[in-house]
Amino acid sequence: MFSSKYAIFKDGGYNVEGLTYWLEDGSKHTKLLDYAEKDLSPLPGLLHELFSKKLDMETLDLNDGYEFTTGDLLALRKLIESLHRFYEGNLDVIQWTMADYLGYLYTKAEVAVRLHKKSLTAGDSANTWLDEVDKWFRVRLDALFDFPYPADLNVYETFDGIEEKISFEVDKNLYARFRLKSDRNAKPELYLREIGLQETVRRILFWTMDVDAPGLNRLTAALRAKIYSHRFEDTAIQDSANVKKFLSIGAFSEKDDFGDCLNSVHLNTAHCYPGPMSNEAEEALRKVAEAAKGASAEGYSDVYEIEDLRQLLYLELQQMINADILIKRCRNCKKYFVAPGTGVKVEYCDRVAPGETKKTCKDVGAARTEKNKKAANKLYAIFRSEYHTRFGRARRRVRLDGSKAKDDPKLQAWEKKARKMYDEEIEKENPMTEDEFRELLKGL
Ligand SMILES: [Zn+2]
Repeated sequence: MFSSKYAIFKDGGYNVEGLTYWLEDGSKHTKLLDYAEKDLSPLPGLLHELFSKKLDMETLDLNDGYEFTTGDLLALRKLIESLHRFYEGNLDVIQWTMADYLGYLYTKAEVAVRLHKKSLTAGDSANTWLDEVDKWFRVRLDALFDFPYPADLNVYETFDGIEEKISFEVDKNLYARFRLKSDRNAKPELYLREIGLQETVRRILFWTMDVDAPGLNRLTAALRAKIYSHRFEDTAIQDSANVKKFLSIGAFSEKDDFGDCLNSVHLNTAHCYPGPMSNEAEEALRKVAEAAKGASAEGYSDVYEIEDLRQLLYLELQQMINADILIKRCRNCKKYFVAPGTGVKVEYCDRVAPGETKKTCKDVGAARTEKNKKAANKLYAIFRSEYHTRFGRARRRVRLDGSKAKDDPKLQAWEKKARKMYDEEIEKENPMTEDEFRELLKGL
């Protein structure tokens, strides 16, 4: 079911080969950061709607005679494909999401418990009920997917007693884990691995890269990653992914004439056969070395064979952590973006701003800063004028100790509160009107 896909990491980004479409992302990690923001909350509802066409959702009995149409799957596919370009046209993810949901229904309805009880009552031999579980699952998977599944749905991991977990593996792709323990309060989110994956990615981003993560943001990325692993040790094993890494150093493609020179004329050198190296060969090598220095670094990239999005995301996260990347939330759309290096203050991202067709958050942010500046000037003028009024009053007050009017405690107390209010107000997206501000200042 899987075809080989290769993720090639280079220059802070990557591209994936082996897909039917072009997939790449640069050093802004837009696809990953957008993925983390996607809303997966409609997923359980969509699956419920889909399953209810083929299953009685109370008894989980099959409603034979209904065949899914492409239209039935459309909403589910749309949601999944909107997550990440990797999922474009990817039917595997649709299948395992459906299998996960079946696992959820199975647990919630306590199917295993029911079958176990039935088997005990009938006096079946010890593991007959497991065959029944196997059958229950297979029949429904067959019915839910359009194409036949391998018949060897195995209970490959069983533990003692009904309290433990068992797992099924239909094929490498359709792996599901179900609790035998009765769990009527099971939440679908716990079973849907796509939701779990997104949660993990969000968590890793926050713990290792978010510049605003309290208590963590002054630490190095490497240290933050360590703390993350320590904190989430229990889940870290589930979160690990196996990938195959290729060690490769590519040849440079520029100035082939040097290469030819080496290959054809000076093949018979000390590098190929024992013997003295000719002057010509040495000269050719020197030229090639010169050319190599100036050639592009093509080939010096990390190449991994991957199967699914999870691997791609984890690899990307790893590269980001190693590169000390920091991320922050955009002040306009509240989504993550890669923060520029220290000392550069950027508050808005490059995405098209919500509710806009062309304007980016940066554009919106710039306009807002301008607007705020104007608003700030106006509010400041009101502050000054109110201060003057109060200063005049302070001057008229009789001070026996000979202190100055500006040190008047009443005036100072007011000024402190008024400045705080002003500072807070000009930071706001929509500061209050001048009249409102004036009223509040007077009332302080
Ligand atoms: Zn934004």
